[in-house]
Amino acid sequence: MNEKKLQFETISVRGASGGDSVTGAISYPIYQSTTFKHPELNKSTGYDYSRTNNPTREEVERTICLLEEGKEALAFSTGVAAITACFHLFKPGDHIIVSEDLYGGTFRLFNDIYSVFGIKSTFVDTTSLDGIKEDITNETKAIFIETPSNPLMRVSDISDISYLCKKNKLTLIVDNTFLTPYFQKPLLLGADIVIHSGTKFLGGHNDVLSGFLIANDKDIISKLRVVQNSTGATLSAFDSWLLLRGLKTLSIRLDKSQENAILIANYLKRNENIEKVYYVGLEDHEGYDVNIIQSTGYGSMISFKVKKVSLVAKLLKKLEVISFAESLGGVETLITYPYTQTHVDMPNDLKQRLGVDERLLRLSVGIENINDLLDDLKSVLGE
Ligand SMILES: *Cc1c(COP(=O)(O)O)cnc(C)c1O
Repeated sequence: MNEKKLQFETISVRGASGGDSVTGAISYPIYQSTTFKHPELNKSTGYDYSRTNNPTREEVERTICLLEEGKEALAFSTGVAAITACFHLFKPGDHIIVSEDLYGGTFRLFNDIYSVFGIKSTFVDTTSLDGIKEDITNETKAIFIETPSNPLMRVSDISDISYLCKKNKLTLIVDNTFLTPYFQKPLLLGADIVIHSGTKFLGGHNDVLSGFLIANDKDIISKLRVVQNSTGATLSAFDSWLLLRGLKTLSIRLDKSQENAILIANYLKRNENIEKVYYVGLEDHEGYDVNIIQSTGYGSMISFKVKKVSLVAKLLKKLEVISFAESLGGVETLITYPYTQTHVDMPNDLKQRLGVDERLLRLSVGIENINDLLDDLKSVLGE
């Protein structure tokens, strides 16, 4: 291959290596082997044992790394396993500032799991730099943000926060699950570590769990490699291959689901049964201006609040094309009830303060025909 850098869509389709160099296989092979034979003492093919290193996992790691424009990527069995690995960078007494509005499972990790090991966390509104500054102490080691956030689509300014982190020698960790590198590249905006639940848009078909960490700094990467191998929640060869396959269509899936999402957000906004729509693609959304500067798209996650709580049960029961299910980022449109599903472990007072209440629903818009999706919603909400 010549030196010319390939474009995003081309890298997603070809993968890092463009196929198998040995056989010419266009679809990268699944190296379904736990272990690898050594030619002689002190010699290795580069592969020893699949927890440590596996060619198919290496291929997906290299591909994601190119897409996020980092130095190295690490693949894990789930998104929370990737986040957990990240936490091994810290020690008891360390303090981390976290976006208050974020994925419920991440909240639970901080609040219920790490706190037991002495890692302290403060949940703050990271859309305001002043709010963050107030909470930085001598123990603070990192800032962890999600942007847009789950479920309220709040937008934090990655460059501004990165500047603050550099000044205070803090590690900036960004969960980029909602926009993916197709729309947003946090490392280029100054983040130190990017996290993905690959289960969502990267995999894209609601059929594989996975997680990724991408970083630039050699020291961070080597520490994370030791954690990945030692704690062992690595991505299997088959699941790595499913990710490689999902990535091939990342750009067209995201374009199509965003196109559908814009139409659905506008429909919901006009609908008399809806009180508020949270979508970063709406010009009156609070984070619209910051998002448009730091990303190239809005994605396809929409939350909305119905006026009457009775509409929640009606929607969840009557929708037929749209499935009532947890998760997001797949080709199928899903509707979720954060209050009892994704955010069930968040304390009630925080949920109320944020507005994650009994009237909030979240849509992950897929790539179905827009008229079928709109008709489904109209069957319950009316024109
Ligand atoms: C789903 C999700 C996670 C957790 O990933 P899993 O693959 O379910 O472990 C983390 N962050 C965000 C934003 C998510 O949506």
